[in-house]
Amino acid sequence: MTSKTARGLTEHDVAELRSRFGWNELPRTRVAGPFAIFLRQFSSFLIAILVGAACVALLLGERIDALAIGLVIALNAVLGFVQEWRAETALAALRGLLAPRATVVRDGTESVIPARELVPGDVIVLRTGDSVPADAQLLESVGLRVDESVLTGESVPVDKDMTTSKLFTGTSVVSGHAEAEVLAIGAETEFGQVAALTGAVGTKTTHLQRQLGYLARQLGAAALLIAAGLAGLGIILGRDVPEMLMTSLSLAVAIVPEGLPAVVTITLALGTAAMARRNALVRRLQAVETLGAASVICTDKTGTLTENKMTATRLWTAARGYDVTGTGYDPAGHIAHGAARVRAQDDAGLHHLLRCALVCNHARIERRGSDWVMIGAPTEGALVTLAYKGWLPQLRDNAIAAELPFTSERKRMSVLFVAPEDGFGESWQLTKGAPEAILAICDRIRTDDRIGELDDGMRVDIRNVYQSMARDGLRVIALAERRMDSQTIDESGMVFLGLVGLIDPPRAEVTPALSLARSAGLRVIMITGDSPFTAEAIARQIGLDAQAVLTGDDLHALTDDELGRVLKGNAVFARTRPADKMRIVSVLQSAGQIVAMTGDGVNDAPALKQADIGVAMGIRGTDVAREASDLVLLDDNFATIIGAISEGRRQFANIRKFVRYLLSSNAGEVVALIVNIAIGGPLIFLATQILWMNLVTDGATAVALGLEKSEPDHMDRPPRKSRDPILGRAGFATVVLFGLYTGLASLWIFSAMMPAGVDTARTTAFTAMVVFEKISVFAFRSLHLPCWRIGWLSNPLLLAALSLTLAAQVAAVYWPPLQLLLHTVPIGPEAWLLIAAFALPLLVVPEVVKSARRGIAHRVMTRD
Ligand code: ATP
Repeated sequence: MTSKTARGLTEHDVAELRSRFGWNELPRTRVAGPFAIFLRQFSSFLIAILVGAACVALLLGERIDALAIGLVIALNAVLGFVQEWRAETALAALRGLLAPRATVVRDGTESVIPARELVPGDVIVLRTGDSVPADAQLLESVGLRVDESVLTGESVPVDKDMTTSKLFTGTSVVSGHAEAEVLAIGAETEFGQVAALTGAVGTKTTHLQRQLGYLARQLGAAALLIAAGLAGLGIILGRDVPEMLMTSLSLAVAIVPEGLPAVVTITLALGTAAMARRNALVRRLQAVETLGAASVICTDKTGTLTENKMTATRLWTAARGYDVTGTGYDPAGHIAHGAARVRAQDDAGLHHLLRCALVCNHARIERRGSDWVMIGAPTEGALVTLAYKGWLPQLRDNAIAAELPFTSERKRMSVLFVAPEDGFGESWQLTKGAPEAILAICDRIRTDDRIGELDDGMRVDIRNVYQSMARDGLRVIALAERRMDSQTIDESGMVFLGLVGLIDPPRAEVTPALSLARSAGLRVIMITGDSPFTAEAIARQIGLDAQAVLTGDDLHALTDDELGRVLKGNAVFARTRPADKMRIVSVLQSAGQIVAMTGDGVNDAPALKQADIGVAMGIRGTDVAREASDLVLLDDNFATIIGAISEGRRQFANIRKFVRYLLSSNAGEVVALIVNIAIGGPLIFLATQILWMNLVTDGATAVALGLEKSEPDHMDRPPRKSRDPILGRAGFATVVLFGLYTGLASLWIFSAMMPAGVDTARTTAFTAMVVFEKISVFAFRSLHLPCWRIGWLSNPLLLAALSLTLAAQVAAVYWPPLQLLLHTVPIGPEAWLLIAAFALPLLVVPEVVKSARRGIAHRVMTRD
């Protein structure tokens, strides 16, 4: 369609205009700068408690304690800052990848550039599904309808032609295509203030973040209550008031899992970066979490399961069948009937068919160096290549007088072609599309030079040829023509010309990805606009179970309940319209499934929004589909969805691990403190020691747990239920068990060491608690696999965090400045032996329990 006479701006013009008008972008919405992120570290509940503790210490004249708490606050802020900064930069990098693009004609060549590089005067090309990248003046358009609801709130698309010829930034093309000249860019655009240019990564908090924030707040309130109760009790029992105040404040700090919400955010944000490396771009953080729970993937076929690199391999006209040689878009190759090569000039039927294929078409092929590149839709590109292989004479470019564009609903397109010089006479309507859609509007058929009636016998023959091509996995396009007198398109009474079979090979990665999906308990449902025969053949080739193949029409005849029953089995849906996807998603969702749904067209947007995870295509997809999606596949590849799901599962599992780990550590401290007060012993931990424990325990080790690799069998398990609680009963029991053991063990050590003096006993108990917390992390590296299965050394970051914090504890015991801050004294080998003796079960018992449980599970499975 692009008027090839329009050469657009030259690179020189662009440079000059850029220096005058700048970039096509809105003034950036302010993202949090480093200073703001640093300040944010001081706004938490934890800091409030710590500041309270420091004030109490100061009031009591404990200057060293106050200083220690001050240091803790500073260190905490620095750690928090480093982690949040990493998360922010990871998200900013993703935003860059999602930047909108525009198709522009410069120096006579059409290319796709980032939309921010547009300048006024640029000639842009807009197609169905594109968002309009700048305010522009229409130069030429066919059937253009634009959705301006972002600006006007009017949901009905507006027809655009030369009389209503202005296009506005941020609106989107619903149908048709156009060429336009950019009038204004960036902030200068009429609605520049309203329309957001970037598809920003959503920063809405996720369900999980909310759940955890709630947990943290509850624990915070509980902490304050318990601490106040404890202080009251201690004072009533006649214990030293300042000591009790400091202890209860420390207890409050011990209870609050202060690191939790931040660690989750950081894990999710770093997770998005990991997914992007696997070509899956997360547009909303929520998606990372939902992906891990996905149970059904509804996928289209063309381009996702297949390569979307089409080549015509077979032709059929009423007179004869043909084979086509050559691969890809390279026109080297020929059309042959039996052993004889055939050219358009020698075969009237073929000539008409190829003319229709070339003219009713928007694609182009171009030679670049030794390669041929195709610009446009692959189906159409294959037809252009085919016409070249058949030596079709060159036709004038701008001979299209009108067009009814292709849509997935109608499944055909028509053009009005006026070219007296092509030897066939004045004016023609040329139509191509799905065979059913073309047969429905034909009443005659061409056989070489003759035109005869299209009777029922012929229709049966055509259907047989179509089905045999489709059963071989070919995509079949039918072509038709009609001589016209009027200037309007009328899709009826047409002459059937023939069929073209296009091969679109399945992607190599799809078969292994499907078997991975199967073992992960994920159902895969193919929903395609292509024919049921092609769909079934491709399903067979890639190893997708297809017990039933239903067409869009079959689907309409079913009630929701019946459809629900079909969806329990393995069904393939063919010849569907975009609206059908929406219905399939809702029926699946009402059966409790978590649905990932792919889509690329404008009409897919509602289904993408409705699905739990809307998946749009980075290469083939339209801007509209991308904006409605949660996840964008940069390589359009089905295997990438499975990769993203695996990544989502890994992250959710890791969040579960560190939640349990953090709570278990805190529980141990609480048990030790409370039991100790209840039995009336001297203070087991001092306030600064508790702060130290939480500081060295929380941040680094938990973040390292968040980076734990996926467990070898994590894709051999069914998806988790979406509302599974993060902690659950088993998790709660683990927290209590660990808390009781570490708390009581350190208390026992404390009393056993008492003969050596209270300071030595306290230092030993304090060190014991830190060692216990560090050692128990191995139990949480996998919640059901023993460490020897996942590899003791497989998370080097965790080992580094562990070594570093243990070294810090040694310094805390032997390095005088830290001794002063933490009120510690050096401890001897017998103390370390005692600690080691109590730490060993923490390392061994969970592994034995996990192995035994696996053994039992295995026996049950083999017995079944
Ligand atoms: P999927 O939904 O898996 O991506 P699809 O691309 O085949 O499959 P549609 O875009 O709805 O789905 O296309 C349906 C049918 O319309 C195709 O099988 C083909 O016969 C026909 N078709 C596709 N592209 C064109 C086109 N540009 N012009 C005319 N007909 C087309």
